[in-house]
Amino acid sequence: MHQVYAVKYAERDARRPEHFLGGDPHDVPMPMDYFVWAVVGDGGTWVVDTGFGTADATARRRKLLRTGAEALAAVDVDATSVTDVVLTHLHYDHAGGLDNFPNARFHVQEREMAFATGRHMTEPAQGHGFTADHVAALVHHVHDGRVVFHDGDDTLAPGLSVHLLGGHTDGMQVVRVETDGGALVLASDATHYYENFESGRPFPIVYDVDAMVAGWEVLRRLASSPDAIVPGHDPLVLERYPEVSRETKGVAVRLDTGRR
Ligand SMILES: [Zn+2]
Repeated sequence: MHQVYAVKYAERDARRPEHFLGGDPHDVPMPMDYFVWAVVGDGGTWVVDTGFGTADATARRRKLLRTGAEALAAVDVDATSVTDVVLTHLHYDHAGGLDNFPNARFHVQEREMAFATGRHMTEPAQGHGFTADHVAALVHHVHDGRVVFHDGDDTLAPGLSVHLLGGHTDGMQVVRVETDGGALVLASDATHYYENFESGRPFPIVYDVDAMVAGWEVLRRLASSPDAIVPGHDPLVLERYPEVSRETKGVAVRLDTGRR
């Protein structure tokens, strides 16, 4: 069975209307956290997403607290020895810093690679969430034999699987992990906040609204309970799950033992 961790690496100030398609009448603060995740099991350690670095932090005015690789050290994961990284999608805040994982293969949906290198990237509404250098780095890794393509749902290891949802991006995938406490789902940007799927209101960065909405039902089907769906950017994750240690309070929480 697996131990699963969420580790925060960046944050930004934001307001409620930014997080719901069509806005929100309550113009109050609603900050955003940025996470990477680690799945530790008998078969080894899997990292889910890699975060961004200083170039994106500067260009996009995001507050980078530590790189994704540095953040993983909080749960004793050494990025340089990681052999497998799942990229839920290729947005800048999920697929940067690949150089920090020099021994990893990168697991990505075929549709996401096609999306990130295709015609929709010429449209600012879709393209602005991607950083060309990240996509180019991944293309190099394709040619190096370090990319594992998945076409739809796939089993990575016993009790660990990816599921193609689309919606947020065309090749958005989520990760299902079986643990002693049941099956939990790392939803990443299939739902940025708990509130997006709980209230049925999409996050405004979206490629296919219908697929995003349908994806929330897939999340509910994949997880043992709605409580086992872990959103991609919600500061509540750090409040609802137990901290890994006193030293990493506010940085790392353990997800597989249930909410506190
Ligand atoms: Zn995204």
